[in-house]
Amino acid sequence: MTTTTSDTSVRDRITEEIRQRRRFVISSHVRPDGDAIGSQLAMAFALRQLGKTVRVVNSDVPPFPMLVFPGVSEIEVAQRVDDPGDAVIIMECGDFARTGVAGLDRGFVINIDHHVGNTMYGAVNWFDLSAAACGEMVFDLTQALGVRLTPEIATHIYIAILTDTGSFHYSSISSRTFDICRQCVEAGVDPPAVARSIFDSNNLGRLKLFGAVLSKMELDPTGRLATVWVDRALARDCGGTYEDTEGLINLPLTVKEIQAVVFFKELGPDEWRISMRSKGAVDINSVAAEFGGGGHKNAAGCSAQGTFDELTALFRRKIIEQIDKAAPLRT
Ligand code: 5GP
Ligand code: MN
Repeated sequence: MTTTTSDTSVRDRITEEIRQRRRFVISSHVRPDGDAIGSQLAMAFALRQLGKTVRVVNSDVPPFPMLVFPGVSEIEVAQRVDDPGDAVIIMECGDFARTGVAGLDRGFVINIDHHVGNTMYGAVNWFDLSAAACGEMVFDLTQALGVRLTPEIATHIYIAILTDTGSFHYSSISSRTFDICRQCVEAGVDPPAVARSIFDSNNLGRLKLFGAVLSKMELDPTGRLATVWVDRALARDCGGTYEDTEGLINLPLTVKEIQAVVFFKELGPDEWRISMRSKGAVDINSVAAEFGGGGHKNAAGCSAQGTFDELTALFRRKIIEQIDKAAPLRT
């Protein structure tokens, strides 16, 4: 069952399912980002306001800058749950295996997401491609449930939107996005304080690592595709970690001519995690999907095996094809 915002029947079904149930487990995808954590915690605070019992369980720790926000430090990190409660709500996760948490499938699964290609793995599936962040959908749901927009809920919805739109950069933004943010600000969110915590809480190792990675950046001969990479040795030499590279991928796109970026992270011998970003009509989700990954048109990722040289050549060719499709080079 699928819906968009104009079709509220699935959302209304979810409000009914929630009203009838008492104990909830809320999960999201591996390596949760701001939209994952923000959506989960906004939902958790909303459900608690309704007198429900809620556990928030993820397979990986939250991004470090988020730890200052309400409820984040209480998120359980586990790779399995024995008791799925009366319902499991999975937020921001296109594919069930991507939760990285075993045992969730034994529960009544509610799937709430906005990623292209969501596999509709739930007993109820609410999929809205038009949402700029899953947090927008959670906002709608809390309103439909009659929940009061507390500063905690508003903060998490605002964080979800701020981070998943790339600080209000991406094409999925609509007037609804700003209307929701307006209501969050009226409910007590302080946008400069949130931005400082999320974007201006770096350690020095992270800044040095950004410098080292960017200094090794390569451009294709047309100057439209940037390739960057990191391995453990480079991270260690800078006093940083892989987590510290979060957000780095967006920097090459600030160059006017650069239309797409591919970022290779070495996980093990010939084992790579690949993140991609693009501008406008350049669809890199289709490239990620070919390798069993996914995401959105302008932000997607996947894993792949092979040597650095093989994989960079392969991905460069496929991404350039997409850049050409969006806007062929004039000769
Ligand atoms: P990132 O590059 O920041 O890891 O991810 C960018 C976007 O692509 C996010 O929306 C993320 O959920 C999605 N994504 C990244 N890696 C994968 C993957 O391996 N599988 C799927 N389905 N989506 C991914
Ligand atoms: Mn998202």
